[in-house]
Amino acid sequence: MHKLTIKNLHVSIDDKEILKGIDLEINSHEIHAIMGPNGNGKSTLLSTIMGHPRYEVTEGSITFDGEDVLEMEVDERSRAGLFLGMQYPQEVSGVTNSDFLKSAINARRETPVGLYDFVKSMESNLEKLRMKPDLAHRFLNEGFSGGEKKRNEILQLLMLNPHIAMLDEIDSGLDIDALHIVANVLKEAQNERQMGLMVVSHYERFFEFIEPTHTHIMIDGKIVLSSDASLVRKIDQEGYDWIDAKRADEKVEKRPESIASSVLKEALGDTHD
Ligand code: ADP
Ligand code: MG
Repeated sequence: MHKLTIKNLHVSIDDKEILKGIDLEINSHEIHAIMGPNGNGKSTLLSTIMGHPRYEVTEGSITFDGEDVLEMEVDERSRAGLFLGMQYPQEVSGVTNSDFLKSAINARRETPVGLYDFVKSMESNLEKLRMKPDLAHRFLNEGFSGGEKKRNEILQLLMLNPHIAMLDEIDSGLDIDALHIVANVLKEAQNERQMGLMVVSHYERFFEFIEPTHTHIMIDGKIVLSSDASLVRKIDQEGYDWIDAKRADEKVEKRPESIASSVLKEALGDTHD
C-alpha cells in the first residue's frame, strides 16, 4: 500500500497565498473527490503535489511513503509513482505522443521497454479509450480536440501505471459517450491496480461512475468539509452556498464567546491593577 500525506500545506503564487493550510491523506486504494467553486485552489493543490515550479510552498509538508516529496524534482515524483492529468494539457511540437510515452516509461525502468511490448500495450490502451490509432504518432496534443487531449492524459496514466493519480477536471470537454468510456477505463484501472485517485470535477455524473470513497470541499484555499460520496449529491442539488452559510454561522456563533472572553480578560486584568 502507498500513502500520500499532506500536512498544513501553505502555497503562494507570486507572493499571494493560495493554499492556506491543507491536511489530506490518500492511500493507494482510495478515491478522493475534490470539489469547490472555481478559483479556490484545487489546481494549485494538484500542481504543487506534482512539483510545478510556479507554486511556492511556504509552510507544511508533502510525503509519499514517508519520503519528502518537496525535495524531489518533477521526474523523481513521477518515478515514485505520482501522476497528474492536467486541466489544460500542453501541446508539445516536435515530440510524438509515442516517443514522449516511451521516454517517460523508460525513465522509470532499469532497462528500456521492448518495442514490441510497448507497441502492443499502446495499441490496446488506445483501443480501450477508443482513440484514433494515428494519435500515437502525432506531436503531443498538437491539434488534438479538447476531448482527445483529455483521453490522451488517461492514455498516459494507463501506460505509466502510477500508484496515485491526480486528475484535474478530466471530464470537462468530454461528450457523454467519451465520459462513459473515460470513467469506465479509469474505474477498471483503479480497481485492477489498486491505484489511489484524487479527482477534481464539478460533475455529479462523473462521480457517479467513479464512486469516490471520500469527498472534500475546497473553499478559499482550505478544505472546509470532508465526507463520503453523499456529499457530491448534496453539492449537485444545493450548490456551495449552504457551506458558506454554515461557515458564517460558525463565525456568528463564535462572536459572543470571543466578546465574552475579551470582557473576561479585561475583568481579570482589572483585578490585577
Ligand atoms: P481552481 O482550480 O480551484 O479553480 P486554481 O488553483 O486554479 O483554482 O486558482 C486558485 C487561485 O490562484 C485563483 O485566484 C487564481 O487566479 C490564482 N492562480 C492560479 N494560477 C495562477 C498563476 N499561474 N498566476 C497567478 N495566479 C494564479
Ligand atoms: Mg482548476
